[in-house]
Amino acid sequence: MHNFEFVKPSTVADAVAVLANAEAQPFAGGQTLIPSMKARLNAPEILVSLTGIAEMNGVRRDGGALVVGATTTHAAVARDAASHFPALAALAGQIGDPAVRTRGTLGGSLANNDPSACYPAAVLGTGATIVTNAREIAADDYFQGMFTTALDEGEIITSVRFPIPEKAAYAKFLQPASRFALTGVFVAKYASGVRVAVTGASEGGVFRWAEAEAALSSGFDADSIGRLSHPSDGMIADLHGTAEYRAHLVRVMTQRAVRAAH
Ligand SMILES: Cc1cc2nc3c(=O)[nH]c(=O)nc-3n(C[C@H](O)[C@H](O)[C@H](O)COP(=O)(O)OP(=O)(O)OC[C@H]3O[C@@H](n4cnc5c(N)ncnc54)[C@H](O)[C@@H]3O)c2cc1C
Repeated sequence: MHNFEFVKPSTVADAVAVLANAEAQPFAGGQTLIPSMKARLNAPEILVSLTGIAEMNGVRRDGGALVVGATTTHAAVARDAASHFPALAALAGQIGDPAVRTRGTLGGSLANNDPSACYPAAVLGTGATIVTNAREIAADDYFQGMFTTALDEGEIITSVRFPIPEKAAYAKFLQPASRFALTGVFVAKYASGVRVAVTGASEGGVFRWAEAEAALSSGFDADSIGRLSHPSDGMIADLHGTAEYRAHLVRVMTQRAVRAAH
């Protein structure tokens, strides 16, 4: 690994000021960033740790929403969100292994936007709001393809506001070697309708399955999507599964998520 400077500001304003330097990069849990630096795929000159900024950490209830600070670790979400939003807590508790959950953060996961990551499914599946130092971004506008987001250079996620659903669940078909989702589906039921978000399956990253949302909004029952099938166009095909296999998993995992939500 190359040499770099490490700074740990205690306010968002101070972090953003350092990040104005084009050679600086935010650092959270390091679970993705450090391996990429070790492999020399990334060589920031200044790492700006966000973990000393108190206002960016923790889980709090705000009326009908759950606000999760960007530096909150997966383990903390699994513990602290459980009584407010059990489906989100359960998702966080399935990420990686205990070491990853102890260091990895919500903000790091969303900034990275790995096409097989779990949190993007919950964020898109609930229509959550991504709060940054500069603005608020609706989930529908945030995810812009594999490893691509609406974040500008130097912009940091400070928290995410999840509208708490009436019923919800995440069903993950585990890729056992990486522990990421081969296909994962987050289903959330609100008074206004049902949202279904799929991760791990598409070359375009996380996406909403509109046909399933329409069917489930008419009847929130796993049988109501039994006859649907997702097309395999644009699905990921690799040594772990064909495009057709992933398309099949989209329906199967959606049905499992609906059953779990009940
Ligand atoms: C073995 C292993 C298994 C894993 N399994 C899973 C899994 O099952 N499901 C899953 O979803 N994930 C999984 N992950 C990924 C894990 O969730 C990481 O925590 C996540 O990808 C990155 O979060 P981090 O906090 O470690 O970010 P870092 O590695 O510190 O940073 C990642 C990127 O985000 C940027 N960044 C960090 N925080 C912010 C912020 N607040 N605002 C703007 N940019 C920011 C950094 O500059 C960097 O580009 C796994 C990782 C490993 C190593």
